[in-house]
Amino acid sequence: MSATIIDGRAAAERLRQRVATRTAELARNAVIPGLAVVLVGDDPASQIYVASKTRQAQEAGLRHFDHRLPASATTAELLALVQKLNDDREVHGILVQLPLPAGVDGALVLAAIDPAKDVDGFHAINVGRLSLGEAATVPCTPLGCLILLREAMPDLAGKRALVVGRSNIVGKPMAQLLLQNDCTVTIAHSRTRDLPALCLEAEILVAAIGKPRAIKGEWIRPGAVVIDVGINRVQDADGKTRVVGDVDFAGALERAAAITPVPGGVGPMTIACLLMNTVDAAFASQAP
Ligand code: NAP
Repeated sequence: MSATIIDGRAAAERLRQRVATRTAELARNAVIPGLAVVLVGDDPASQIYVASKTRQAQEAGLRHFDHRLPASATTAELLALVQKLNDDREVHGILVQLPLPAGVDGALVLAAIDPAKDVDGFHAINVGRLSLGEAATVPCTPLGCLILLREAMPDLAGKRALVVGRSNIVGKPMAQLLLQNDCTVTIAHSRTRDLPALCLEAEILVAAIGKPRAIKGEWIRPGAVVIDVGINRVQDADGKTRVVGDVDFAGALERAAAITPVPGGVGPMTIACLLMNTVDAAFASQAP
């Protein structure tokens, strides 16, 4: 069997088109969805993400507010900025780029964001609503994973799903989303025993561990759908640097029914989902 490769770039483009259509709807009421991004310090990876978010937001017709602070910024300064953005009617979504410098109390800063503007879905109110099965802003990466998964497997009910990784930004919300979609969900982590056996049972496997090609091809259940969240930079035997996922792609391709590639799978969906969350927040702000 050779798996279908799930095209995350094409799915992200379709999502951005939906964002543009909904943005045009809002424009008829003279509303422009506004996304404020707060970047603290000069982490090179964060700068690349923020530049990409800015470009895509502008292309989709969103208003973009960039706030760059030096690495020496204090928790109090960040709290004051978040308060200002909470009060700004032109801002519908606030994203504080992580990681924050060690000296800043990140939990306090995230907790200060108005949950209605928390387009990352990291605020405890949104996390709680998601786990209660209530309407919530869902973190962008797991939301993107779910959209890609549904393309390959429209009916998720009753499926055995394994999420490898239990981070607050990917693993845990992913597991909640799968549960909401009536999957039977197992969460694995670094202390899990016999991961290969769990993988072999999984009809859906979501890998979010940050270890290059750690999930081996022979662990994949034949016919499974594999969603690879990992982004790992490695130097291969040929000396070339590549970005690879958490799953051994070549091996998994032989057994899975469908699989997301890295790059070109989950990655492009994350920013598209952020734009969608911002447009949703702008619509919600108009509700009477
Ligand atoms: P993280 O916070 O470091 O969490 C990693 C999780 O994996 C932890 O729960 C850890 O277990 C578990 N783990 C580590 N090694 C393991 C192993 N050998 N077997 C089983 N579980 C293991 O990472 P993250 O933020 O969730 O990110 C995960 C990956 O996704 C990274 O490669 C990251 O770059 C990527 N990512 C991609 C996107 C995107 O847009 N595509 C977005 C976010 C993240 P413990 O809890 O026991 O330590």
